[in-house]
Amino acid sequence: MQALPAGLLDRLAACRRLLVLTGAGVSAASGIPTFRDPGDGLWARFRPEDLATPAAFARDPQLVWRWYQWRRRLIAGASPNAAHRAIAALEQLLPRVAVVTQNVDGLHQRAGSSVVIEFHGSIWHDRCSAGCGRRCPADPALDEPPRCADCSAAMRPDVVWFGEGIPPDALNAALEAAAVCDALLVAGTAGVVEPAASLARIAAEHDALLIEANLETTPLSPLADCRLAGDVAQTLPALCAALNRIP
Ligand SMILES: [Zn+2]
Repeated sequence: MQALPAGLLDRLAACRRLLVLTGAGVSAASGIPTFRDPGDGLWARFRPEDLATPAAFARDPQLVWRWYQWRRRLIAGASPNAAHRAIAALEQLLPRVAVVTQNVDGLHQRAGSSVVIEFHGSIWHDRCSAGCGRRCPADPALDEPPRCADCSAAMRPDVVWFGEGIPPDALNAALEAAAVCDALLVAGTAGVVEPAASLARIAAEHDALLIEANLETTPLSPLADCRLAGDVAQTLPALCAALNRIP
């Protein structure tokens, strides 16, 4: 595992605003099942593309609901891993750290990160499927989707489904953060899905330091000042340790 070159480490240590963009790779070491995992016996015969859509929920809300309750129980049993903890620890080392995540599992918050922009929503919340705007904490014990207290439509998980856009508030907050950051750490995401790729481009346009921590090279790699190849549960703690050693 290579370290950050000394010059870049100094630049990172001097940065005032760090933006961290994270994806599924950061939660992988916590055992969070991705959409690529087949799931257990009950759910193995379904394709996520056939469950995580507005059309699927309209057709069979209870089926989609039960699938999410299963995912919620799995995630409830998982814990933040060394990558989440390292990202949270960066707040002790740098003046301002914001996290933009494509993950819906809430593990950054549980690890202690205080500014988390959830690009794809949160599995721990429900929102009204009729779009009246009501949002509330999810109850993982319910067998059926609850009714909206305002308009009595079915409540649905407050996550972004296939074919849906990024919530405008999250998108705007992320774009603003990218425009003012002086370093961007992209961790555990291929970064190919828009608008995540735009964040890296925006940061690169004003010469922010761009560090990529990922197992594989990605389309963002040519933009990066440095690549930390390997498992983020190892490379990010190592990065924190190196920052900590700077006087
Ligand atoms: Zn409603």
